Amino acid sequence: MKIAIVGGGAAGLMAAVVACQKHNVTVFEKQNRVGKKLFASGNGKCNVTNSILTRQNLSKPNDFYNCQRANDVVSAFDYDDFMSFCKNTLALETIVDSQGRVYPRSEQSGSVLDAFRLRCQKNGVKICDNTDVYRIEKTAKGFKLHFGQEQTAYFDKVVFCVGSSAQTRNFNSFDLLKDFKINLTKRQASLTPVKTQKVWLPLNGVKTKCNVTLYQNGQRVMSENGEVLFRDYGLSGIVIFNVSAYIARNIAKGVDAKYYVSLDLFNEITQKQLEEKLFERFAVCGNESKTFFVGLLCNKLAEEVIKNCKLAEIIKKEDISKIAKFLKNIRFDVSGLCGEDKGQVVSGGIDFAETDENLQCKKVPGLYFAGECLDADGLCGGFNLHFAFASGYLAGKSL
Ligand SMILES: Cc1cc2nc3c(=O)[nH]c(=O)nc-3n(C[C@H](O)[C@H](O)[C@H](O)COP(=O)(O)OP(=O)(O)OC[C@H]3O[C@@H](n4cnc5c(N)ncnc54)[C@H](O)[C@@H]3O)c2cc1C
Repeated sequence: MKIAIVGGGAAGLMAAVVACQKHNVTVFEKQNRVGKKLFASGNGKCNVTNSILTRQNLSKPNDFYNCQRANDVVSAFDYDDFMSFCKNTLALETIVDSQGRVYPRSEQSGSVLDAFRLRCQKNGVKICDNTDVYRIEKTAKGFKLHFGQEQTAYFDKVVFCVGSSAQTRNFNSFDLLKDFKINLTKRQASLTPVKTQKVWLPLNGVKTKCNVTLYQNGQRVMSENGEVLFRDYGLSGIVIFNVSAYIARNIAKGVDAKYYVSLDLFNEITQKQLEEKLFERFAVCGNESKTFFVGLLCNKLAEEVIKNCKLAEIIKKEDISKIAKFLKNIRFDVSGLCGEDKGQVVSGGIDFAETDENLQCKKVPGLYFAGECLDADGLCGGFNLHFAFASGYLAGKSL
């Protein structure tokens, strides 16, 4: 069969490598080369999957993905399947870090991209770079694609894997589905920094390790340890991206709520233990507020503590519980999420209800969907690329 893959990203390349074992495959990519987002991912290191994504872990309640269907797709091509694929099909060596994040052994995203491109090349996949598909027409036997400078070609089946508007200018590829009346769910940038009502301007660019707890309408809804980056508009960092995923999924579902995050800068000890630690400092540091925190907090953070706890030049013993309480619960009210220009993914997209279990479109047999264009989003840590690969694999295998 003649197969067209619309979009040469992670999902499209995976679908091509799998489908070319049986079919004649053409990949259409509007940019000047395939896999640009894959290349940029993970700060150029490309965090391809996470060892937590085993079938066993996916069978338990989890928040790795926004919905059960996304979870099911990953279950069908889980961590072990992907690692075997890397070894046996891509010849891609990998390393796993202490948090289960998997990277190419070279720690260069180019290795992943090149491995896919080589497999495509070896198996005769035709890659058309700089080729924008602007219409997909259903014909009696298959599909007519309109692309480039008013060119057309016929295909038996099409895999639609155009990605999302996250960090992509002028994204309009969902327009291709208008004729088919495919339902799209509400879209919202995710894995973004969060904007907060209070900002600590002097700390812009400063990072600190802490525990972050998210509260929704006053109820604790998630908690995670990690590194927070203070920004002049709010907070950023991987743990904050995961907080944004929770909020983005709610926004995409139409849930209206108020959120705040609480930072615990000393999550490894209790408030009582922190008070004891602070008391001990009097003996070594004296009681002047400008030197009391030296060696405990970075200077800019110490200035915020002095300001927020309204400490005088001399710290009194009675101030200690106030300081400990503050350091264990620094509240930032969330005023919103940053947009698609800063988001790594988009929550929402093609409604899974439009697809069968192989990601084939129910309304348009022969048309398949894969990757981020579907209503699937995962947490930080390799979950999104894994979904793109798993859905590309499923669609490619089912053609
Ligand atoms: C900065 C950044 C870092 C990230 N880091 C990670 C990470 O480390 N780990 C992780 O799991 N996830 C990461 N992600 C998310 C991950 O990169 C995406 O979820 C994943 O690339 C989605 O793959 P995809 O194939 O669905 O879409 P894409 O990779 O976006 O590919 C879609 C392709 O389709 C092409 N296209 C679109 N419309 C058309 C058309 N009409 N005609 C022809 N071609 C078209 C696009 O040009 C694009 O190349 C990151 C994202 C960003 C932005």
